[in-house]
Formats: sequence, C-alpha cells, structure tokens
Amino acid sequence: MTDFDYDLVIIGAGPAGLTAGLYAARARMHVLLLEKAVPGGQIIVTDWIENYPGFPEGISGFDLAEKMKLQAEEMGLKIDTAEVHSLNLQQDLKEVVLTDKTLTAKSLIIASGASPKKLGIGEDRYMGKGISFCATCDAPFFKDKTVVAIGGGDTAVQESIYLTKFAKKVYLVHRRDELRAAKILQERAFANDKIEMVWDTVVTGVDGLFGIEGVHIRNVKTNEEKTLAASGCFIWVGTLPNTQFLGDDVQTDEYGFIRADARMQTSVPGVFAAGDVRDTPLRQVSTAVGDGAIAAVSAEHYIENL
Ligand code: NAP
Repeated sequence: MTDFDYDLVIIGAGPAGLTAGLYAARARMHVLLLEKAVPGGQIIVTDWIENYPGFPEGISGFDLAEKMKLQAEEMGLKIDTAEVHSLNLQQDLKEVVLTDKTLTAKSLIIASGASPKKLGIGEDRYMGKGISFCATCDAPFFKDKTVVAIGGGDTAVQESIYLTKFAKKVYLVHRRDELRAAKILQERAFANDKIEMVWDTVVTGVDGLFGIEGVHIRNVKTNEEKTLAASGCFIWVGTLPNTQFLGDDVQTDEYGFIRADARMQTSVPGVFAAGDVRDTPLRQVSTAVGDGAIAAVSAEHYIENL
C-alpha cells in the first residue's frame, strides 16, 4: 500500500482554492493548499466587489480574500507558498513537483486561476513605465493624467471607472461598437464625464522615451490611424489559464482552460478543476466559490471509493 503525503493537494489560493480548502478541512481530509504568490488570486487586485452575496455595501477584493483565507485557516487548512512545476498523474498516485521536493496525494484540485492576456504592444518594455494590468495597483500614479484603457468586458469597464478617481481622462478603446460588460457597469461608464469611448478601435502600439507619451490606435472600420496623447495604458482584454505545469494528461479546451464535468472531474480520475482555470461560461467570485465546494466534495467521494 502506497503512503501518500496528503489526501488532497489544492493548487491555487484564489476564491475557488480557498473554498475547496475550507470544505476539505471541514471534512477532516489531510489537505494542503499551495499558492505561488499571495493568497486571494485575482480579487486582491480588484478594487471593489459588489456582486458577491452577503456584502450589500460591497467589499474590497483584498478584504474578501483575507476573510476567505482566515476562515479556511481557522477550519484547519494549511497553506504553503510554493510554485508547482509539473504533475505526474498515475492511476491512484498524483505527484506534484515543486522546486525542492515532490509531494504525493490521492487527489488534486487545480484552482490555479487565470492571468491577464497580453496584446504584444510593448508590454515587456513598458511594464511599470506606463503599461499596467492593475488599476488598484497603479491608478494613483496617473493622478490628473490622461490614460488609455483597452477592452470591453467587465474588467475593462469596472477598472476604467475606478481609474477616473485619479486620472483626469480615460479613453476606453474597444474593438467593437458595443460593450460586453454587465449593463450596470455600462450605465456607469456612459454616465461618467471622464470616460470617452473610442469604438471600433484597436491599439497598435505605444511610444515614449522614459514612459508612455502616446498610444497608437487604428479604427478597424475606416483604417484611420492616430495617436492619443496619454501617459498610461491599461490592458484588460481577457485572461489566459494558469496551466503551465499541467502537462498533456488533463484535457483542455482550445484556449487551454481545463475541461471538467458538473462534479469538477477532469479527464483524469481524481484530478478536479475549479474556478477561472476551468472551461466555464462565467468567471465570478461566486461561481469560483461554488466550483471549489463541489470539487472538494467530489475529491472526498473519490478518495472514499479508492
Ligand atoms: P472578457 O469578458 O473576456 O472580455 C475581454 C474583452 O477584451 C472583450 O470585450 C473583448 O472584445 C476584448 N478583447 C479580447 N481580445 C482582444 C484583442 N486582441 N484586442 C482588443 N480587444 C480584445 O474578460 P474580462 O473583462 O477580463 O472578464 C473575465 C471574466 O471575469 C468574465 O467572466 C467577467 O464577467 C469576469 N469579471 C466580472 C466582474 C464583475 O462581475 N464585476 C469584474 C471583472 C471580471 P469582444 O467583446 O469584442 O470579444
């Protein structure tokens, strides 16, 4: 009989992983949650969350993450800081390869989330010098300045509204002539005097000697090109799954998001996926939390039946 380090290893401490950890700890499973950065996932860079039930006034993403972490730890969840490099997935034994050791577990939950997509417009050169993916982190640097935001989803619209607390003007550049974001966010953006919509337009590059001075745009209908004078450029054009360690055993969709069924079971028995890393029609804190709960209960059933 093989000895396992853990019943369950959870990869990623965003809302999905923390909820899975809470449920697994309550089920008295021998569980470890691994997080390579700060627990909380993408919500720690979200200024304000107003659609997570139970907080009628809204709550900052950072505070919500802290509460989730505290609740799970108080239930007995152990969280370690470690980066997962690869997985070896056999029938009953799951190996999680870290920098300095390899852990064994009966079951895994992958809740490693997603990261902002890049556009290839100079992100590497201008990161920290005008290009940003995080308004909560960087908006104060643009006090009374003009900035460009790119995207038409919830993130672009919500974060553009946040930017207007600091910037004097926000050009919101979107490749189509209607937004994808929730209607309530659209209403707020359209009512905000500091936001100017730039429709049917893509950003083709940025320039500036020490930081950004201009953002080059092209109208996709007329092909007209021009440069917006701006000192910041925030990119919110969607996300890519954090699955660099995954290998070929676990099936994904064409974009790399992990396929899982209603029980969060992936193509590999005993390996579950939860939250933004999963091929899911909605990526919200509330859906991530639901995924995490289901994944933990499914892992518990899987282990019982081993
Ligand atoms: P998203 O919903 O995938 O939207 C990405 C936006 O970027 C779309 O408007 C898309 O345009 C545009 N885009 C994609 N590729 C592009 C490119 N190459 N060039 C120019 N524009 C491009 O991503 P998201 O806004 O980051 O949201 C991700 C998930 O988190 C969503 O499920 C969202 O609902 C959720 N979220 C929710 C909240 C909230 O509830 N308050 C806040 C933030 C995020 P098209 O519209 O033309 O495709």
